[in-house]
Amino acid sequence: MLDSVRVRLTLWYSIVLALVLVFLAGFTYFLYWHNTSQRADSDITELSEAFVTTFHAELGGEDRPEAVKNAARESMLEHRFSGTYFVLLDASGSLLQSPSGLPGTGDAREQLPEGFFSSESFRSLMAEASNPDELHTIPGGRDGFRGLVRPIPVGGQTYTLVVLRSLHPQRELMEDIRNTFLWAIPLSLLLAGLGGYFLSRKSLAPVAAMASQARGISAVNLHNRLTIVNERDELGQLALTFNNLLERLEASFEQQRRFMADASHELRTPVAILRGETEVTLSQPERSPSEYRETLSILRDESRRLARIIEDLFTLARADAGQYPLTLRDAYLDELASDALVRGRSLALSKNITLVSAIEPDLPIRADEVLLERMLLNLLDNAIKYSPVGSTVTLGCRRDRERYLVSVTDNGPGIPAELQPRIFERFFRTDKARSRSEGETGGAGLGLSIARWIVEAHFGKLELEGSDSSGSTFTATLPAEPSD
Ligand code: ADP
Repeated sequence: MLDSVRVRLTLWYSIVLALVLVFLAGFTYFLYWHNTSQRADSDITELSEAFVTTFHAELGGEDRPEAVKNAARESMLEHRFSGTYFVLLDASGSLLQSPSGLPGTGDAREQLPEGFFSSESFRSLMAEASNPDELHTIPGGRDGFRGLVRPIPVGGQTYTLVVLRSLHPQRELMEDIRNTFLWAIPLSLLLAGLGGYFLSRKSLAPVAAMASQARGISAVNLHNRLTIVNERDELGQLALTFNNLLERLEASFEQQRRFMADASHELRTPVAILRGETEVTLSQPERSPSEYRETLSILRDESRRLARIIEDLFTLARADAGQYPLTLRDAYLDELASDALVRGRSLALSKNITLVSAIEPDLPIRADEVLLERMLLNLLDNAIKYSPVGSTVTLGCRRDRERYLVSVTDNGPGIPAELQPRIFERFFRTDKARSRSEGETGGAGLGLSIARWIVEAHFGKLELEGSDSSGSTFTATLPAEPSD
C-alpha cells in the first residue's frame, strides 16, 4: 500500500497536520489557562478592594467588635458571588465573621467544605500569605481555592480579611477545552486525511491516464501522443516532454525504416543483374569465349559494386552506433591529398580528364589517414564520374589561419539548385538510372553521406560550396594544427 504515491502523500501530510494541530492545541491550552488564571487573580484583588470599601462604609467610623462583625456581615451579603468567600479574622486570628450561616449562591460543589477554617490548608494560607499582592493556591473543596489575605486596620486593632475563590469553574472550563481538543483533533485529522486522499487521487488521475496511454504506444503506433490537459502545469510538461521523446523516436524509426528499405532496394538491383546475367549465359549449352568474358566482366563489376555498397552500409551503421574506431595519427594533409590524386588517376585517364593539383606543402594534421583519404577519394570519384570527357578536376588544399580548406572542383554539369540541399542524404542521387548504368563506378548515393561523416568525425564541415552549369565545388573545412 505504501508503494502508492497517493497513500504516501496522504500519510505524510496527515502526520504533518497532526503535529501542527497538537502543537497548536497545546499552545492555545496553555495561553488560555495562563490568561484566565491572571484574570481570576486580578478579579480577586479587585473584589477585596471593593469589599474593604463597602466594609468601611458599613462601619461608619465605629470600631467596636460588634460593629465590625456587623459591617463585615453586611459587606459579605452585598458581595455575594458564586464560588467567592470572604472571611474576617480578629487580631488574635479567631474567626469574627465567616460565610457560614449566610445565604449561599451558586453551585453546591463550590461551597466551602465543613471545618475548612480549621483545616491544615487554611492555616498554611494564613501562615504564608502576609503580602496582599500575593495570591496562593490551596487544596480543599473539589478543585482547591485561590486565596488572598489582607489586613484591615480599624481603630487600634488590625483585622484580617481572607478572600477565597473556588478554582472549580476554571478547572472545569479547561477540562472542557481539553475534551474538545481530544475529539476535534482526531476528527479533523480523519476528515483532512480523507479529503487529502481524494484530492491526491484526483490530481494524480492524469498520471494514471498517461501511464495507460503510454502502455498502448508501441512501434506500430508511434504516431500516437499523450493527451495534454493543461500544458502549463507539471503534468502537462511531463506529457509534453514524453510527446517530444515520441516525436524523436518516431523520426528515428522512420529514418531507420527508410534506410532499410533503400538499402534492400540498392542491394536487390546488383543481385538481380548477377542472376539475370548468369541465367542468360547458362540458358545456352555453349557460348563463345568472348561471350563468357563479357558475362564474367559484368559479374565482376556488379559484385564489386555490391561489395562497395555493403562496405558503405557497414561503415554508416557503425558510424551511427558510434562504434567506428578512429585511429588518429600525426600525418600530412598534403601527402594524403597527393595519394588520393594518384589513386584517382586511372579513373580520370579512362575519361581523359586532367587532374590538377593545387596542394600547398607542409600541412600537418592529426587524423585517421585511411578515413581522410577515403573522403578525398569519394569527392574525386564524384567529380570525375559526373564530369564530361576531356574536362579538368582540381584538388586544392590550403591553410586558412586555424583551418585547412580542402576543395574539389570540376567542370561537370552541376547539381540542380532544388536538389542541392538533398545531396548529402543517404541513397540520394540526382539521376538514379544513370548511376546504376555506370556499373562498378555507379554509386548507391552513400558516398557524400560517408564523406560528410568522416569530416565531422574530424571536427570539420563538408559543404557544397557552389554548383552550376559550369561545374561544382565541394569544400571540406578541417581544424588545423596550430602553426609555429
Ligand atoms: P553516388 O555514389 O551516387 O555518387 P554520392 O552520395 O557520392 O552518391 O552523391 C550523391 C549524388 O550527388 C550523386 O548521385 C550525384 O547526383 C550528385 N553529385 C555528387 N557529386 C557531384 C558532382 N561533382 N557533380 C554533379 N553531381 C554530383
